[in-house]
Amino acid sequence: MTETNAVVHAKPRRGGIEWGNLSWSVIIGIGGMHLVALGAFLPGMFSLSGLLLGLVLVWVTGGIGITLCYHRLLTHRSFKTPKWFEYVLTICGCLAWQGGPVTWVGVHRLHHKHSDSDMDPHSPQHGFTWGHMLWTLHDKLEGIVAKDAAKDLLRDRGLRLLDKYFWVPQFVLTAVLFGIGTALGGWQLGLSWVVWAVALRTVLVFHFTWFVNSAAHTWGYQNYEETGEKSTNLWWVALVSFGEGWHNNHHAHPRSAAHGLRWFEFDLTYWTIKALSWVGLAHTVVMPREDQMPGAVGEKAPKPATSETTAIDPPTTIPTPVSLANPPAV
Ligand SMILES: [Zn+2]
Ligand SMILES: [Zn+2]
Repeated sequence: MTETNAVVHAKPRRGGIEWGNLSWSVIIGIGGMHLVALGAFLPGMFSLSGLLLGLVLVWVTGGIGITLCYHRLLTHRSFKTPKWFEYVLTICGCLAWQGGPVTWVGVHRLHHKHSDSDMDPHSPQHGFTWGHMLWTLHDKLEGIVAKDAAKDLLRDRGLRLLDKYFWVPQFVLTAVLFGIGTALGGWQLGLSWVVWAVALRTVLVFHFTWFVNSAAHTWGYQNYEETGEKSTNLWWVALVSFGEGWHNNHHAHPRSAAHGLRWFEFDLTYWTIKALSWVGLAHTVVMPREDQMPGAVGEKAPKPATSETTAIDPPTTIPTPVSLANPPAV
């Protein structure tokens, strides 16, 4: 009896809604943003300037904030940049409202460490909707202590501060957009800017990021042999997430600044990093070795044996709760 209980407990809970473990602040934040975004369908709420502002901010918050900064810079240290510029980029990430940098990075590093296993925080193996968004609604994921996997970021006072107050820049931007819109064209234009450039933009970037976790672990092709995880390359996810959809390449080479590795795998974020390097804002850009690049189309290259997640916290040093990592023998 004792043994049976121990084995059941060794598998972390994943996949279904746990009503007693929901984070109501997250649900209200995400749900409220979806509700306000629906305002875009109301007659009178459309403005061309609101649409254009929204498109630019999809790139600034999703492309620069999440993809370039939270993911490639802070999680994997694919390149280096001056400290002041790292903070500017991190504020762009905060504007996406996907949590603070320390939490986001910790969860993502644990995804790499446990990809598509029982311990993965957001694998579609536990249900597509779970991997896409249900996991975000929970207060505490069993076996996940995100901050333990991002101790290098916790040592930085500025990043600690941005992690705690990540929600502030979005409120400031909302007030600024409403104020300028109202000053230029009345309250209706101000409201239109808020609906299109804050709410709808944030919701779109939510789902674009979440599709990397759900769709790019479900459909698409693989350049590298499977070694336990199910990541894929999926063109439409790459398009909306500014290069992140070349996710099978990324799982094979987590530290690479380029996720698109074949000529047709367009990766806007890699070219943005290149452009930053031309003006002196990026250096030490990490790329795969030539002999580890994908082979011919249709063939799967071996996944490199040593694919470190980051130069600072190699996966072996990320602590795993003992009770879950080493379940009692049956
Ligand atoms: Zn993945
Ligand atoms: Zn990653």
